[in-house]
Amino acid sequence: MDYEAVIGLETHVQLKTLSKMWCGCPNVFGSDPNTNVCPVCLGLPGVLPVANEEAMRLTVLTGLLLNCEIPAYAKFDRKNYFYPDSAKNYQVTQYDRPSTQNGWLDFEFGGAPDGLTRVRITRAHLEEDVGKSTHFDRHSGVDFNRAGVPLLEIVSEPDLTSSGMAYDYLNALKDVLMRAGVSDCDMEKGMVRCDVNVSVRPVGTTPLGAKIEIKNMNSFSGVRRALDYEIPRQIEAVRRGEKLRQETRRWDDETGITEPMRSKEDAHDYRYFPEPDLMPFEPTAAWIGEVRTRVPELPLQRKLRLMRDFNLPAGDAQVLTDHLELGRFFEAAATGYKNPKAIANWVINALAARLAETHTEIAAARITPAAVRELVELVDSGRISGKIAQEVFIAVFDQGVSPTSVVESRGLAQVSDTGTIETLADQVIAAHPGPAADFRAGKVAALNFLKGQLMKLSKGQANPAVAGEVLERKLRA
Ligand code: ADP
Ligand code: ZN
Ligand code: MG
Repeated sequence: MDYEAVIGLETHVQLKTLSKMWCGCPNVFGSDPNTNVCPVCLGLPGVLPVANEEAMRLTVLTGLLLNCEIPAYAKFDRKNYFYPDSAKNYQVTQYDRPSTQNGWLDFEFGGAPDGLTRVRITRAHLEEDVGKSTHFDRHSGVDFNRAGVPLLEIVSEPDLTSSGMAYDYLNALKDVLMRAGVSDCDMEKGMVRCDVNVSVRPVGTTPLGAKIEIKNMNSFSGVRRALDYEIPRQIEAVRRGEKLRQETRRWDDETGITEPMRSKEDAHDYRYFPEPDLMPFEPTAAWIGEVRTRVPELPLQRKLRLMRDFNLPAGDAQVLTDHLELGRFFEAAATGYKNPKAIANWVINALAARLAETHTEIAAARITPAAVRELVELVDSGRISGKIAQEVFIAVFDQGVSPTSVVESRGLAQVSDTGTIETLADQVIAAHPGPAADFRAGKVAALNFLKGQLMKLSKGQANPAVAGEVLERKLRA
C-alpha cells in the first residue's frame, strides 16, 4: 500500500514593533540579558498589561495578507503552565476567539508558475513571547528580554503533502510578512520558529492518521530535513503493522533524527481561561480599513503582474520581484515602451552589475529609468549597436548624462551609410585576400571573419547587417 504525508504547520513570528506587547520595554534583539525588562514583562504582582496597538494592527494586517476573516470580536486568554521562562506562570494568547481566521496562502511549489498551491490558514492569533533559558554547567539562566515580545502564531490546515512543499510554504509566508513589514523574519535571531505536525495515511483515504508534532527546528531547511526523516519513519512503522500514537518528538539537528519527547498522556493541561486584565479586541470597520491601506503588492502578485503586463519570462519577473528597487526602476523605464524585455535585460544585467561594481545603492545612482529607456530606443532604432550601447551605458551610469548626448559627443552613432561601409569593405577584402578567396570558393563561414574585421575597422559602429550585405555583394561580384 502507498502512503502519503499530511502536514500542518504552526509558525511563530515576532512582530516588528518598537516596544513589547504589554509594556514600554524595547523590542530589540541582542541586548545584555535582562536589560530590557520591567515589572510588567517580569510578571511582578500588581501590574497591569496595556495592549500595544501596533501589534494589533500587524496582527490584522497579517490576517488581511492571508485572506483571513477579521472577526468583530476577539479576546485574550491565559495559557497556564509552570516553567522558568514565564515568570507569570502563564502566557497570554488568543485561545478560542482569535483576531484572524479562515484564510489561505497561495504560493509556487517548486518554483512552477503554472498552477499555484493553496494552503488554508486556520488562524493567525496574537500571543506573547516568553523568556529564553540558557543551560550552563551547573545552573541555568533565564533572559527575560524576549518575554512579552508580540508573537503571532500562524496555524495552517493540514494541507501540505511533502517536505519540499512545507519548505516552499514557509519561504512564501516569510516573503509576504517581510514585504508587508510585519516581521523581519530573521531566523538566526529567533524571529521565526516553526512546529511541524505530520501524519501519514494510505493514499486515497481521508481520515487523518495520528498527529505527530515535531519541535526544535531552527531553520526552514531544518524543517525540511526533519520531515525527510520523519515521513519515511512513520510510513515504515505503519507498514510494519505498528499503530502510531499521537506524540511530540524532538528534532536533533546534529544527528538528523527525531526522538520521542512526550506522548499524549503527558500532554499539558493548560487550563485556559479569559485574561481578566485585558479588554476584548473589537476592531471597527474604520480601524480595519486603515490597516488595509498598509497591504502592499505581495511578491507573488507582483511577479505574475510583471509577467502579464510586460510579457516577461518568469525568471526575469522573479529577479525584479526579489529585488524590489530594481523592479521599480524597470517599471519606470518600461511602462509604455514596446520592448520591455530589452529594458529588463539592461536592468537585470548591466545595471545590477554596475551597481554592485561601484557599491552604489540604486536610490543614489545617477542613471535614470528614462535614460535606460532612451538607450534601448537607440539600439532598437538601429542608431547604435548593442556593443556600442555597453560603452554608452557605462558613461551614462557614471556621469548621469543622457545616452543621446554620449552618442553625439563621442560620434558613436552606427554607420548604416552604404558609401562609408563600401569603402571599409574594399579595405577589408584587400587586406585579407585568403579569406576572400575562401568565400569565393564556397566557404561561407569566411564571410563572418571578414564581417568581424569590418566591424573592428569601424570601431564597432558599422551596422552589422549592412556590413554583411555589402561584403557579400562585393565578394560575389
Ligand atoms: P492542537 O489542538 O493539538 O494544537 P490542532 O488541531 O489545533 O492541534 O492542529 C495543530 C496543527 O496540526 C495544525 O497546523 C493542523 O493543521 C495540524 N494537524 C492537525 N491534525 C493533524 C494530523 N492528523 N496530521 C497532520 N497535521 C495535523
Ligand atoms: Zn517590560
Ligand atoms: Mg491548536
